[in-house]
Amino acid sequence: ILLADEVDRFPKSAGTEGDPVSLAAKRMTTFWDSVMGLFSTPTNAGDSRIEDEYITGTQEEWQHQCPKCKEWHLVTHRDMHTDYDCSVDKKGTRQVIVKSVIWRCPDCGFGFTETEMRQAAQKYIAQNASALTKGVRSFFVNCFASPWVNWSDVMQEWLEAQGDPEREKVVVNTRFGEAYERKGNFESHEQFMRRRENYGAELPEGVLLLTAAVDVQDNRLEYEICGWGMAEECWGIKKGTILGVPDTPKVWDMLDEQLDKEYRFASGKGLLVARTFIDSGGHYTKEVYAYCKKRFVRQRFAIKGSSTPGVPLLHKYAKVKTVRGHTIPLVMLDTDSGKQYVMDRLSIEEPGPKYFHFPLDKSDSVTVQLTRGYDEFYFKGLISETKEPRRKNGVLVYQWVNIAKDKRNEPLDLRVYNLACMLSVNPDFEALEKLINSPNVIKEQSVKSKLKNKPKGGYGCLRKGMRSDY
Ligand SMILES: [Zn+2]
Repeated sequence: ILLADEVDRFPKSAGTEGDPVSLAAKRMTTFWDSVMGLFSTPTNAGDSRIEDEYITGTQEEWQHQCPKCKEWHLVTHRDMHTDYDCSVDKKGTRQVIVKSVIWRCPDCGFGFTETEMRQAAQKYIAQNASALTKGVRSFFVNCFASPWVNWSDVMQEWLEAQGDPEREKVVVNTRFGEAYERKGNFESHEQFMRRRENYGAELPEGVLLLTAAVDVQDNRLEYEICGWGMAEECWGIKKGTILGVPDTPKVWDMLDEQLDKEYRFASGKGLLVARTFIDSGGHYTKEVYAYCKKRFVRQRFAIKGSSTPGVPLLHKYAKVKTVRGHTIPLVMLDTDSGKQYVMDRLSIEEPGPKYFHFPLDKSDSVTVQLTRGYDEFYFKGLISETKEPRRKNGVLVYQWVNIAKDKRNEPLDLRVYNLACMLSVNPDFEALEKLINSPNVIKEQSVKSKLKNKPKGGYGCLRKGMRSDY
């Protein structure tokens, strides 16, 4: 008897030997009465082993009998009618209070409570009984049949997750037992061009923390500065290019100019970049390490991206040697999961938690406006990749593929690095908000600005009186 649990989380290949489930199954070939059982919470639609296996089997669903019309049905969230109150808290998170949940029979239209349905007759009913001739039985059960969770808690979770693909996926997978259809594959960059807004200042209200990301190319540096607020709401602040080969000091001096700059709100208060992630994966690794060594106290760290399925975005912190035996941290990122997070967040359409804002600067002939770099080429680059199935060692894997005509994908990479950078800071947004709104900050700043040869403040999220030691 071979039992394999959580098969959707299995690696696609056991080393180089191929699919681990097929390898294990081979061990059973010499036993005439062998039985194999695969179990899993499904993950992503189109990339779910358990979903594929389920479809080839008898597809037996745990169904309830309608107390009124006596028809049998699988109870799902689609037939739940929930009466609830919804409010949005200070962090911008949805808070739902469920007053009642009724399951409405799709046949007769009568509604029943959880208690009534728990008492109804229940059994497995096969949707594909002919698969029995192949000897494959498959079963499906979701949380609505579980004695351990009540319906109102599940519907609360579901309603609160609405609009956030990361949270929706958790509920769909672990509660409804279904594969989640990922967002992404946007039709055109134009929807994002239209979404741009006028911030009215370098930094819009709501920004509490600045991060930066740098992509190192053979003839230039590309960088992006992002602002982050409550519940990870994000504002693109500036995207720029520094032309020059990265083995020349001038290029790095110009990067310093951007990263050392204080970015200002309409009120005159300002923020510094709290942390920067710099890609060291190209041809100029040595130069990146040297720069990060020099700018270590300013929280500028080298990163290295990889793409291994099932590995978290902030994969691990390693150490690398630079000159004269010095070591610097090297942050290992999984860009595969990072790209999915970025696509998920791009698909959020309502400003609020995890929403990406993009700036549109009013063109004004009198004053020279800051060019922020969020133009057509930026958005084409941002949505330049899509997840497509590919065969690798005979196994189907989903890989990010660059579909842009010019193959420019730096904007997407930069957003992945910025997201990882913010997550690595693990900011306490409430504390930052209190600090930024505290009148002492302005007072201190106005006093200090009168001083000549004022000492440089610590490099943190606020210039004065706060260090970046979280
Ligand atoms: Zn009915």
